[in-house]
Amino acid sequence: MNATSHSHSSAAAPRSVLISGASVAGPALALCLARYGWSVTVVEKAPRLRAGGFAVDFRGDAHRTVLQRMGIWDEIHQNQTHMGGQSFVDADGVEQVRLPSEVMSGEVEIFRGDLSRILYERTRDDVEYLFGDSITALDERADDVLVTFERSAPRSFDLVVGADGLHSNVRRLVFGDEAQFLRFHGHYVAVFEAPNHLGLDRSARWYNAPGRAVSFAHYGGDPSWSQVTMVFTEPEELSYDRYDTAEHKRLLAERYAGLGWEVPKALEALEDAGEVYFDALAQIQMERFSKGRVVLLGDAGYGATMGGMGTGLALVCAYVLAGELATQSDHRAAFAGYEAEIRAFAKGCQKTAAGAGPMLAPPTEKKIRGRNRTYRMLNSRFLSSIFERLTLKAANNIKLKDYGISTEGAVHNAFSGATQG
Ligand SMILES: Cc1cc2nc3c(=O)[nH]c(=O)nc-3n(C[C@H](O)[C@H](O)[C@H](O)COP(=O)(O)OP(=O)(O)OC[C@H]3O[C@@H](n4cnc5c(N)ncnc54)[C@H](O)[C@@H]3O)c2cc1C
Repeated sequence: MNATSHSHSSAAAPRSVLISGASVAGPALALCLARYGWSVTVVEKAPRLRAGGFAVDFRGDAHRTVLQRMGIWDEIHQNQTHMGGQSFVDADGVEQVRLPSEVMSGEVEIFRGDLSRILYERTRDDVEYLFGDSITALDERADDVLVTFERSAPRSFDLVVGADGLHSNVRRLVFGDEAQFLRFHGHYVAVFEAPNHLGLDRSARWYNAPGRAVSFAHYGGDPSWSQVTMVFTEPEELSYDRYDTAEHKRLLAERYAGLGWEVPKALEALEDAGEVYFDALAQIQMERFSKGRVVLLGDAGYGATMGGMGTGLALVCAYVLAGELATQSDHRAAFAGYEAEIRAFAKGCQKTAAGAGPMLAPPTEKKIRGRNRTYRMLNSRFLSSIFERLTLKAANNIKLKDYGISTEGAVHNAFSGATQG
């Protein structure tokens, strides 16, 4: 299908959509909808495209098919990390077990920031991006939604999409307080940069104390820097300010104080770190992903933090949402189609994520040894193929329709009305 061959209710003008969030889900949806000839605006709270973040991976046919249909498969491969295996060591740094690269890094792995940049660069000529702004109110009317922004003048759009992550602003405005939907999974995760004092080269080392995990990882690029990840158990949800990095640093320093191995070095780097990602391992559980003319996409609707293949999920779901919008007679039918296509798929990915925290940070020495035994078995070809089948089962648990999106170029420029080759 090309930009003009789809049917929609108002045939004259391309339909307009406002997407909140310019990370992965938002720009992926923007890419697909621009190709269908929609007029797309993306609003992002950060002043510019956010760089950095952790490495995210793709595996299985559904991810591959969508990346190919979006026309970004080759570029993702050109920017992949080529991460090697990851070892788990004891307090003396002696390797206990090493995980092959496919287990942690999938078939192809890329930094979230690089993926976001690829999607942004593919769309920025055809999609309007409003950086440094945020939606403050959504007023749904009979034929559109009137949107009020923090900075831009109010405007109306046919539809609004919340692709603004686990702590979605759109979800809060339309569905209510996030506490209703966010299920805490008993762990917290932090990610920050540190000097690569271990001299790692596309490899990682993990160390565990009961209920605490810490790793140094180098995924490629500048050899002098590595990424520290900390995962720790916490019986109750902590109360803290999500925007206060100093408070996050204090919480982490308290929980990792007195631990051995290279933990003191990690804490030193933490003190100096400019940016620290800190959040709970949590999942968003919602009965519906849409209400009226507003729909949720990616982590905002069914996020699972670590281990749920959230990036592949977000891309596949962006493809489905765009396809349903382009081929259904109106947004109600499209949203119903989207929910029906993706609900079981999203649930399955969330289920795989539930095991991530206890696997990375087992609560006792005995459980750490048990986890290492399990990981050792993954080095056997037979057991690793079972593991692969289980994760692939979740990653592939969707029958993708062919919505006829054009794979390359041929983007209808929604602003000038011109079609680019
Ligand atoms: C520690 C960790 C490790 C992970 N590892 C993996 C992995 O290995 N593999 C994998 O596939 N997935 C992984 N994920 C999940 C993955 O990062 C997400 O599922 C994926 O990026 C999809 O995100 P999204 O675009 O829906 O939301 P996000 O990436 O969270 O993006 C939301 C965007 O919305 C913006 N925003 C927020 N508020 C507003 C507002 N008010 N107005 C406008 N914009 C706003 C944010 O600035 C951000 O740009 C991991 C997640 C975490 C937390």
